[in-house]
Amino acid sequence: MSIIRAPRGVRDILPEESWKWEYVFAVTRKVAGDFGYREVHLPVFEHTELFSRGVGETTDVVEKEMYTFEDRSGRSLTLRPELSASMVRSYLENRMDKQHQPAKLWSAGPMFRYERPQKGRYRQFWQIDFEAIGSQDPYVDVESIELSLEVFRRLGLSNLEVVVNSVGCPVCRPVHKNALQDFLRPRLDQLCETCQGRFDRNPLRILDCKNPSCRALTDKAPDTISCLCDECSEHFDRVKGGLNRIGASYSIDNRLVRGLDYYTKTAYEVLSGDLGAQNAVCGGGRYDNLAESIGGPHTPGVGFATGVERIILTMEQQGCSFGKTPNIDVFVVFTNPSSKDEAVSVLYGIRRAGIAADMDYTGKSFKAQFKAAGGSGALYACVIGPEEISSGRATIKDLVSGEQETVSRDVLTVFLEARLR
Ligand SMILES: [Zn+2]
Ligand SMILES: [Zn+2]
Repeated sequence: MSIIRAPRGVRDILPEESWKWEYVFAVTRKVAGDFGYREVHLPVFEHTELFSRGVGETTDVVEKEMYTFEDRSGRSLTLRPELSASMVRSYLENRMDKQHQPAKLWSAGPMFRYERPQKGRYRQFWQIDFEAIGSQDPYVDVESIELSLEVFRRLGLSNLEVVVNSVGCPVCRPVHKNALQDFLRPRLDQLCETCQGRFDRNPLRILDCKNPSCRALTDKAPDTISCLCDECSEHFDRVKGGLNRIGASYSIDNRLVRGLDYYTKTAYEVLSGDLGAQNAVCGGGRYDNLAESIGGPHTPGVGFATGVERIILTMEQQGCSFGKTPNIDVFVVFTNPSSKDEAVSVLYGIRRAGIAADMDYTGKSFKAQFKAAGGSGALYACVIGPEEISSGRATIKDLVSGEQETVSRDVLTVFLEARLR
């Protein structure tokens, strides 16, 4: 029988890497708290309708990428491909509109999309998501943008750049859609196949196409900003003014339309890295009609999501620090098999004092135990042998300098705590 492997496109996050994830979550949690965002844990699966109505029937995500299944009662359920729809669902269901507005929430966890796996892209991938629901104040857009920047700044990413756009609202978007279709119609047969498929249903996404010939053809296409209604135009001006006020530098990208239907008004991305090697590390925007599309009352909101795999990859590329590697502090070594029982007692005494400690269980020789101690990253070895047992002491060896001294067992943990401080 062959060994069962993980399904295509998913992977294990092993200890060699998982501590980096912990670091990213710890930094994020602190920044979220500093901005008044509170954490929620959301279910991994939802009713399929939440995404087909919330994210949009004509999006790539809903058309091609969802993991949808029937449960044993015949309900159609879907593994979440993103978090905004779930967050708004939770806001509505838990009547968070009765609390102070906006409700500022964040959540992290795995998302699922059936995409072609490639470097840094998996079918189960992790996102951290921040949403401010219940306010249309442009300053909340500004706060959302600045929050994303602050997360990446504190993670040590360099050359951060914000690009913003406004994608309009249900009043002005049809005006743009018509203008865009008029512009594209005579050029339609020159567009790529994907763009041709988008022409009727979702022409805005054609601006987003990465195909160079599509980009050249749409170079002079009418952009969303030129078609904004007064309300959207004023909102966009106030977002830009707010970013200026807090000294956040940004540029405007007329092609930034984002892949999901629910965005209204502000859309933005944060890029990091040197010019030419820039990575989009997060994307977000305002979604004032998402709540209505899933059956709730009109509830404006704004937020962003960032991919944890992408952040870690970018941090590694840029040589960012992930903080202190999690290591064992003390490795207990016993000189002969008859000292093992006493060494176990010493080990638990050290651990109960809150010091990270370990020992060998594989019957290694005295010398090999020291090698294991070095491999564990421990700073000190605590040696227990017949002499230490009869004298009620322990020998502490500094694994960096090689120096050693004997310490009374009564004060062993106090001694180690002082050394490790
Ligand atoms: Zn508008
Ligand atoms: Zn195209």
